[in-house]
Amino acid sequence: MLTVTQARERILSHFQTTAEETLPLTECANHILAGDVTAPYDLPLFDNSSMDGFALRAEDASLLTLSVVADIPAGSAPTVTLGRGQAARIMTGAQIPKGADAVIPVEETDFNSREAGSPAPKTISFTKNVKAGENIRPRGADVHAGDDILQKRRKLKPQDLGLLAMLGFANVNVYKSPRIALLSSGDELVDVNIPLTAGKIHDSNSYTLAALIQNTGADVLQLGVAKDSRESVESLLQKAVSEKVDLILSSAGVSVGAFDFVKEVVESNGKLDFWRVNMRPGKPLAFGEYHSTPFIGLPGNPVSAFVGFEIFVRPVLEKLSGQLDGIRRTVKVRCEQEIESDGRESYLRAKLREENGIYIAELTGHQGSGNLLSLVQADALLIIPAGVKCVPVGREVDAYLL
Ligand code: AMP
Ligand code: MG
Repeated sequence: MLTVTQARERILSHFQTTAEETLPLTECANHILAGDVTAPYDLPLFDNSSMDGFALRAEDASLLTLSVVADIPAGSAPTVTLGRGQAARIMTGAQIPKGADAVIPVEETDFNSREAGSPAPKTISFTKNVKAGENIRPRGADVHAGDDILQKRRKLKPQDLGLLAMLGFANVNVYKSPRIALLSSGDELVDVNIPLTAGKIHDSNSYTLAALIQNTGADVLQLGVAKDSRESVESLLQKAVSEKVDLILSSAGVSVGAFDFVKEVVESNGKLDFWRVNMRPGKPLAFGEYHSTPFIGLPGNPVSAFVGFEIFVRPVLEKLSGQLDGIRRTVKVRCEQEIESDGRESYLRAKLREENGIYIAELTGHQGSGNLLSLVQADALLIIPAGVKCVPVGREVDAYLL
């Protein structure tokens, strides 16, 4: 039997990051940068005012009254050069005129017409002193031309898109989103839109797994539910091949049941390794190729499928999409109850609460691999390492936050 780490490494070794593509900025959120980004110019690009007020020479602040010789709205290019005793009305973000080295906010002057559209005054008086540089955002204060601002393999966040826009990048080189074909299998499964009849259940894995895939930034091709027959499985898998997906992900139909055709169909049209991984839930795991498209077969039980995705599929999707090889971060949680384990690496559903900065974990009821509610109620998967048979009350273990 393989350890979780061995199984994951074997799977990961078969995948490479997808090709690059250039996307308009509007489509780049959550995509992975395919190269470092260097700033082409300074930000701010010019000295500008951080306040609505009056630009002046700081040394003139001791004068009682200044004459206002220009009005500088944001977006304009000032042409004046301020001389001694002169000021210019200026708006937030507007370029500082030559000669000025400070801005005095309008609130600190005797100019009271502050509603939109009011013309600039002829003169301005103020009481406060102002130092050189005050209320000016100098050129390059945020970014210098040539700065390495975003690194290859970063997942683009909304604020990254803002910075890229400020720096004039209308298009960005990213890795292509992986495309994943998803199927469920089993004669008992009917779609959520179809009323249940005797012996049937609604297909839940298609919904959970599709959302998990999409959350990583990959695209889903929903193949639907295969019947427990060779023909049905084959026709769905054929569709995945013709669509040239990066991975076929299935759930169920890979155990040792008499009707588990997924396993057989993959094996006879490609190759299949069927592994037993030393973990709970989700011991059976199928990995191979259908024709030459990589295939991962997760167990059918909804909680096993979820855990299998988190442990084996998420890292594959991250690698395909070019993300930093993130070993998923864990947090320490303190077990509120004694936990028995069977010695396999176990992933247990637990609710968390915080007490004095420490997470306290309480299992969410029965840990059967078909019990989806207990997964819904969980905030975390506790990781009980292989070889551990009992975790005493108060012991800390690692956990994945959900
Ligand atoms: P199997 O691997 O086909 O033996 O399925 C194991 C268990 O998971 C059975 O109880 C199935 O009914 C259940 N199961 C399989 N696929 C799904 C699915 N897509 N949604 C909900 N339950 C499923
Ligand atoms: Mg089945």
